[in-house]
Formats: sequence, C-alpha cells, structure tokens
Amino acid sequence: HRINIAIDGPAGAGKSTVARKVASALQYVYIDTGAMYRAVTLKVLESGLSTDDDAAVGRLADGLDIALLPGDEAQQVRVNGENVTALLRSLEINRNVSFVARLPRVRSRMAELQRRMAQGKGVVMDGRDIGTHVLPDAELKVFLTASPRERATRRFRELEPGTEITLNQLEREIAERDRLDRERAIAPLLQAADARLLDSTGMTADEVAEQIVQWGLAAART
Ligand code: C5P
Repeated sequence: HRINIAIDGPAGAGKSTVARKVASALQYVYIDTGAMYRAVTLKVLESGLSTDDDAAVGRLADGLDIALLPGDEAQQVRVNGENVTALLRSLEINRNVSFVARLPRVRSRMAELQRRMAQGKGVVMDGRDIGTHVLPDAELKVFLTASPRERATRRFRELEPGTEITLNQLEREIAERDRLDRERAIAPLLQAADARLLDSTGMTADEVAEQIVQWGLAAART
C-alpha cells in the first residue's frame, strides 16, 4: 500500500534532491515545503512588510495560493498563478526565510496547505517539521544530515553564477539559519523520536535515495 514519507533535516543536507529521486522511484508525489516558505518570503520582501509582523504577514500568506507542479528538474512553484521558481534560491531569500518561517500565522497556514496536499497518501515531503508536526503519522520518517562543510558546498553550487559570497561565509549563514530554525518556538527543526537518522556525508544522492526507497518499501509491506 501507499505510505507517506517525511524527510527532515538542516539546510543543504540534500533533502530536496533525494526526496525528488525517492518520489520518482516510488511514483509518489514530491512536496518541497521549504519552497513554500521561500515563496511567502519572496512576497513579503516584494510587498515591503517587516518579517516581524505576524499579523500582516499572516494576512498576506492567507491570500497566497501556492501550487507545486511537477517539473523535469526542480518542481515549479506558482504563487497566485505566477511562476516564481527561478526567484526562490537567492541569498536575499536565504537570509530572510527563517524569520518569516518562525511567524505563528505563517506556520499554521503552511501546515494546513501541506496536510491538504498529503491527503491521498503517496507523498514524499521534505522540510524541518514534517515528521514532528505536519505529518506525525507518516509511516517512514528520515532525518537527513551531512557535515556543515558538505552542506555549504551543496548550497554554493545552487547559487547563481557570479553571486558574491565565499564558501566560508555561506557556511556561517547556513549555521545561523539552522540555529534560527532549531530555536524557534513553534515546530522547530528537530529529529522526530521515531525518525531514522541518515548522515549523507560522502554518499551520493543516488545512494541516499536508494536507502530511503528500501526503507519505504519495507514500511509499505507492513
Ligand atoms: O529547505 P529549504 O532550505 O528550502 O528551507 C528554507 C527555510 O524554510 C528553512 O531554513 C526554514 O526556515 C523554513 N522551513 C521551515 N519548515 C519547513 C521547511 C522549511 O521552517 N517544513
């Protein structure tokens, strides 16, 4: 039978790459919840709202229709019909997203949308709080990590060519974002008690995906 798979972990651990591969191997639906928080952050920055203003940002988030469409490479993210996929991985979004993601109204709105997306079973959802909050009943939970240097290197390769930042600086920014995600009051970044820990340092994305597919197939048989 079809199950739900939750993949959580810190920034740059390879969650999206691996989750996409797992979903494709199992013919499941892939849902990148980080992209949803990034999309809200884009709209907050565009509208000039303060990332501290829970009421105003919450109202903005309530009015956003965020759709994730399967694509060849990355999935396509549409906000009220507009394709914003290419705008979500900038340094500016990286630097602001954890402030938007800690707002209570934003979190409750995103969790509601994510649970709705996962209703039929057969989803692979990646994020920070999927195993602990969004899908606590997911049949397979994985907490994916990698060394700080490897995570920074992966995110470095994602940046637009010509972006002015060094690998060391990016590593510091990732550590700061993880700290904000771990220390926030609501749904912090945390390994669920029943999640399997997988350290992907030195593993290829295919190897990590293969391991998760095997766990998924075993979970689906029980
Ligand atoms: O996974 P990604 O790096 O794209 O996530 C961007 C940010 O979105 C995270 O640093 C975190 O602040 C927020 N996020 C979250 N909960 C999730 C997914 C992402 O708070 N489930």
